Amino acid sequence: MLLKELVKIIESKYSPNLAYEWDNVGLLVGDYGSGVKRVLLALDADESVIEEAVERGVDIIITHHPFLFKGMKKINSSSYRGRAVIRLIKEDISLYSMHTNFDIARDGLNDGLCRKMGLKNIEDLSIIQAEKLVKIAIYAPKTHEDAVRRALAEGGAGHIGNYDSCSFSTDGVGRFRPLEGSNPHVGRKDMVCDIEEVKIESVLPKEKLNSALEHVFSVHPYEEVAYDMYELLNEGDSIGIGRIGETEREVGLEEFAEGLKRGLDIELLKIAGDPKMNVKRVAVVSGSGSEFMGESVKKGAQVIVTGDVKYHQAQEALEKGIAVVDVGHYGSEKIFAEIMSEFLKGSTKGVEILTSNASSDVFWSI
Ligand SMILES: [Zn+2]
Repeated sequence: MLLKELVKIIESKYSPNLAYEWDNVGLLVGDYGSGVKRVLLALDADESVIEEAVERGVDIIITHHPFLFKGMKKINSSSYRGRAVIRLIKEDISLYSMHTNFDIARDGLNDGLCRKMGLKNIEDLSIIQAEKLVKIAIYAPKTHEDAVRRALAEGGAGHIGNYDSCSFSTDGVGRFRPLEGSNPHVGRKDMVCDIEEVKIESVLPKEKLNSALEHVFSVHPYEEVAYDMYELLNEGDSIGIGRIGETEREVGLEEFAEGLKRGLDIELLKIAGDPKMNVKRVAVVSGSGSEFMGESVKKGAQVIVTGDVKYHQAQEALEKGIAVVDVGHYGSEKIFAEIMSEFLKGSTKGVEILTSNASSDVFWSI
């Protein structure tokens, strides 16, 4: 499989458009035209993971944390990151990262955490924005209208509520004159040609536009496909970060935390709150989620599960009436490889998906 095909598969599910503006996601190192036979999944691309990638002969490392985050003005051997980039290029290993887009996306980190915790009635915790919708209109000859409609649907267009393959078609006449250098599907050079065509309109989330167009181009017979696209004022589904859900039954905070420790396979977690207080409604934020405590309280959560909570933030949370379980930054994100492995194994063929053995928490405890 070509790297560009793998990237297309990943981005059709975890669109880079979902990432925060300050983030740096996507293909950070690599050649879109190179081949991929073996993938290594890890939370970070640190030295040991890159070494592992070389030893296991992988073609690409896919991480959650972007290895290149702040701008790099020099790529040379005097810095840790410079050496790493040089090594990756020399070893012909690509590097792809999905960060806040993976936190936000459906079936990303936060949904994965909720699943591990067995939470029900899951909603977004903090709404970031409503999905931006676009309308696309494709002009196709009548002979290819069904193929183009199907391609649009396969590319992610025409999904409205519980319906898919939604489109609207209008018959009309297309006119064009093939010029020197053209290779027209129909018509002759230097002659204006009238063709029975159909205009097919469909609505889709902005982030699926490229995918829909690629699908259409693959079946449309014309050398130059005529199409329009425009942004809509209608809003699609909301997009949010963090999740809030409910446990199967009300449990004491200590029992809840013990279940969490087992479920997420974490060595150490920190808890703030009365061990005997009852917990049912749970806010979940992967990574560092202290800033979402107020919102969690507003949405009725009795406890927030996140990482990187400072002493005074935990104190403030208790004052606001919400308990805190700090599973650690790594603890809340270590399931990245598991989620991606499941997704890639189900959506790629002929590609070996490996999970890093070297990837680990930067902290250890005694
Ligand atoms: Zn993180």
